[in-house]
Amino acid sequence: MRIAWFNGHRLGLVENGRVYDVSAALRRLPAQSYPGPWGDPLIANLATMREAIATARLEASSIAVAEARFASPVARPSKIIGTPVNYLKHAEEATANPGVFTHRYQGGIEEQGLFLKAVSALVGPGEGVHIRFPDRRTDHEMELGVIIGKPAAMVAEAEAFAHVAGYAIALDMVVRGPEDRSFRKSIDSYAVLGPWLVTADEIADPANLDFSLAVNGKLRQQSNTRFMIMSIARQIAWASAFYTLWPGDIIMTGTCEGVGQVRSGDTIRCEIEGIGEMEVKVSG
Ligand code: MN
Repeated sequence: MRIAWFNGHRLGLVENGRVYDVSAALRRLPAQSYPGPWGDPLIANLATMREAIATARLEASSIAVAEARFASPVARPSKIIGTPVNYLKHAEEATANPGVFTHRYQGGIEEQGLFLKAVSALVGPGEGVHIRFPDRRTDHEMELGVIIGKPAAMVAEAEAFAHVAGYAIALDMVVRGPEDRSFRKSIDSYAVLGPWLVTADEIADPANLDFSLAVNGKLRQQSNTRFMIMSIARQIAWASAFYTLWPGDIIMTGTCEGVGQVRSGDTIRCEIEGIGEMEVKVSG
């Protein structure tokens, strides 16, 4: 199932190039008293909501995917987790360009640890990226986004995928420079997720997905998730050893080689096999 938020807080089901407005399904969300648990209520209740969405689909109106303005398919994550240097060729390009990639971080993932991006940075492709510091270099990092479905604390690698709700295309946008990663990667609109969440049952092997990114029609990043250095299961297990993962939490699983600068006016187009494609406008 492909689930989206579109056109101003409408809940969407994506099928065969159309977005069905299944917002009526939201009535099935259980009532919550303040403050409720961390995380995203829709993702936390995904099993129930899938039934409700399928029912709502029967009487839903629809529009073409191309006409929809997509927000992030996760509305309220408690965390956006980033995995650094997870593709060898990206690690090599970073080491080879010390003027662009800070020397602050040394060694592999195990030495550097995971990082966090502020949830306030999260947008969908329809909202676009807004350059905050035009005199500095803002880069795209094309990544597979893994969305957590169940609370995960100290989970074993063998149990990791039981905690995954689904997948989406992620852009880990960043301003290059000397400051801490979490600061430079948390600018408003610098975490793009979209265009929809594909539930985990539809992705047979998340560790073998072709993906690519082009800017203004020119291919820049192209790889396959099998080239990840740290597996998705290990990322989930390791993250959950440090903090509880809540439904809706997003792991941006690392970028491949070919990261580069974007400027106001650019259009970023991303594609991941089995998920789809999204176009993101850059303004500033
Ligand atoms: Mn990244």
